[in-house]
Amino acid sequence: MLIKNALLPDLSTIDILIENDKIVKIGSEIIGTASLDLKAQAFISSGWIDAHAHAFNGIEFIGDDIDTIGIKSGVTTLIDAGTVGALNYDQIVTEKKSVITDVKSLLNISQIGIIRQNELANLDDLNQVKVMDLVSKEADIVGLKVRMSGSVVENNGITPLIIAKETATKLNVPLMIHIGNPPPDVDDVLKLLSKGDIITHCFHGKASNLFDNSSQTESLLLDCLKRGVLIDVGHGTDSFSFDIAKRAMQKGIYPNTISSDIYRKNRINGPVFDFATTMSKFLYVGYKHSDIITMVTKNAAEMFGLTEIGEMVEGKKADFTIYQIKDQEVELTDSTGKKVIANQKFVVNAVIKNGEYYQLEDNELTC
Ligand code: ZN
Ligand code: ZN
Repeated sequence: MLIKNALLPDLSTIDILIENDKIVKIGSEIIGTASLDLKAQAFISSGWIDAHAHAFNGIEFIGDDIDTIGIKSGVTTLIDAGTVGALNYDQIVTEKKSVITDVKSLLNISQIGIIRQNELANLDDLNQVKVMDLVSKEADIVGLKVRMSGSVVENNGITPLIIAKETATKLNVPLMIHIGNPPPDVDDVLKLLSKGDIITHCFHGKASNLFDNSSQTESLLLDCLKRGVLIDVGHGTDSFSFDIAKRAMQKGIYPNTISSDIYRKNRINGPVFDFATTMSKFLYVGYKHSDIITMVTKNAAEMFGLTEIGEMVEGKKADFTIYQIKDQEVELTDSTGKKVIANQKFVVNAVIKNGEYYQLEDNELTC
């Protein structure tokens, strides 16, 4: 397959030659008959990776149909962020057999996963041996997830994080930490984090957010970033504020990854709707197109050690998202209910997954 005249964010064009499911050549003018000529009308990037999603239909409380939030939304790889734990991981394995989208997992440190809001209220559900056993057997588990907010940990304070950190360190995998309403105090969370750990919901606008002008929290966050702690958006129902994202940008702080924290409820009722909408919000905040793409491709792949995807270079997988940025008025809503009118939005045209081409219209496959 030869793709010709695909736009890059700097408005230059490239041709890409694919054989089987690999990129074999990238250049400015590859000789041959185009199987797909984008005529400099659409952009191409490495396939989008949603670093925090709930990609599992089997739990009523949270989760969604994998290909709906994946390939049909321009996302070729989903990172399931702790929907399942050691007790229900086998169910996600079964569900993945019938989908196109790739799903990698951050295993919930609680063995029950997010079957209800307070999965860390009972410390008996934190079984380190079971987690270590499963992670060492399953290549698709790329890290661990722990949700550190009051409604999840109840009376257990910082203890679940201490256990999760110890387990992730022993396994040498990244740990994604959800932050939200205390307890525990966010400062106590930040003090425990080290290189490669990922703070998700970094721009939430709740009372104890990371940019609430508390000098203590801010200096702890800056220390974290210096140590190599990573930050992720995790928009979700309750966890993205335009004002906080702008405040962070004014301080020169950008996330490593933009992610949706999508599941059925916030897809259908908003404010997430889909991954492209989440990305469009960052165009509105003032991020550069090229930076947004890096955050949803290269940075996300590196975060989870996914070496075959994330960059358009020879030898990597033929895994692409083809999209446009349309100049049109669009109303965007954050998790605090704030509505803004933006004048540009990302629109997905097609994806290429494992070398196969899938055309899209309004988040449905048309061929
Ligand atoms: Zn969360
Ligand atoms: Zn989540």
